Amino acid sequence: MGVKIAVNGFGTIGKRVSEAIMLQDDMYLLGVTKTKPNFEAFIANQKNIDLYVPKDKIEEFEAKGVKVRGTMNELFEKADLVVDATPSGVGATYREFYSKYSLKMVFQGGEKPEVAELSYSALCNHEKAVGKSSVRVVSCNTTGLLRLICSLRKKYPIQKIKALMVRRGSDPKEVKRGPINSIVIDPKLPSHHGVDVKTVVPDINIMTAAIVVPTTLMHLHYINITFDKKITRNDIIEALENSPRILLIDAPKTGIKSTSELIEYFRDYGRKRNDVPELVIWENMIHVEDKEATIVQSVHQESIVIPENIDAIRALSSLEKDKKKTIEKTNNTLGILGGRLT
Ligand code: NAD
Repeated sequence: MGVKIAVNGFGTIGKRVSEAIMLQDDMYLLGVTKTKPNFEAFIANQKNIDLYVPKDKIEEFEAKGVKVRGTMNELFEKADLVVDATPSGVGATYREFYSKYSLKMVFQGGEKPEVAELSYSALCNHEKAVGKSSVRVVSCNTTGLLRLICSLRKKYPIQKIKALMVRRGSDPKEVKRGPINSIVIDPKLPSHHGVDVKTVVPDINIMTAAIVVPTTLMHLHYINITFDKKITRNDIIEALENSPRILLIDAPKTGIKSTSELIEYFRDYGRKRNDVPELVIWENMIHVEDKEATIVQSVHQESIVIPENIDAIRALSSLEKDKKKTIEKTNNTLGILGGRLT
């Protein structure tokens, strides 16, 4: 059966993590929670995923025709580990509750770093998370930045990074967020993304700024890296080509030169929900002069953190101590690509 897992919150991240767990042979999805009997609850029923709800809501769910397996407390009682995928800030309010059931805990990036013992990115610090009782998988933008940084910095030490995060306004399903006709500046400098990177790699010199644009598909990062020594374009391409979960795209060759076309490619490819858990690097935009490189990358916010959640479960449960092995296993089970697209 493997490690018994409860997923608390069955939204954008929770549903994807749940399905990813179901594809692993060393962990088992006991069930998920829902607090509202909406369409996601019906989908859980259709997929034969056991649904657990607050005790006082059972009647409300059943009145709408949703099958309920038990109460949230019953789920947590049976589980070894909980993946918290509740909305930002809600996870922290559950911490004590999870502790009562002696659960290991995987939180998401919307929580403050203090929620867990360690902020986690598989490529950067998997080994440090092994055997811990809680980790926080950093957010989508931070996961993208860290995949890039940790693919390069061991071989090519980094002096400093400056980056602009062009963020999507909302996820496709969100009806109450925006902007729909504006470019909104994040007034905080540095933006929280660079600060968050430092929760995983504290010694990195990074400054990020962020703007939000009216799109729902993906984020885009414009990144300037100064290395300690002179570097070539080929050095960067080779390092990224050989790093797991990174996909290089040649825009002139493929005709993919926008996030819309990239998403369309993955719809045609057959990816469920057009997910792109790989970090996508726009290869033709890599520009290098002496010690400085400019890199442009795209992040699919809804799916990039899913493989990291699976690796984090393996770390906490001491199922796999070696980061290369867990990354490879997760990549194989989830069909994650690397190298160059086409
Ligand atoms: P979401 O709103 O899509 O899903 C949250 C789910 O939790 C919903 O099913 C909601 O009904 C449920 N929920 C609400 N209150 C609850 C409660 N008190 N108890 C149990 N369940 C409750 O949110 P999401 O986008 O999946 O985000 C979850 C976490 O993942 C957040 O920390 C977020 O910052 C992080 N994250 C989100 C994205 C993204 O782009 N969506 C990317 C990376 C990380």
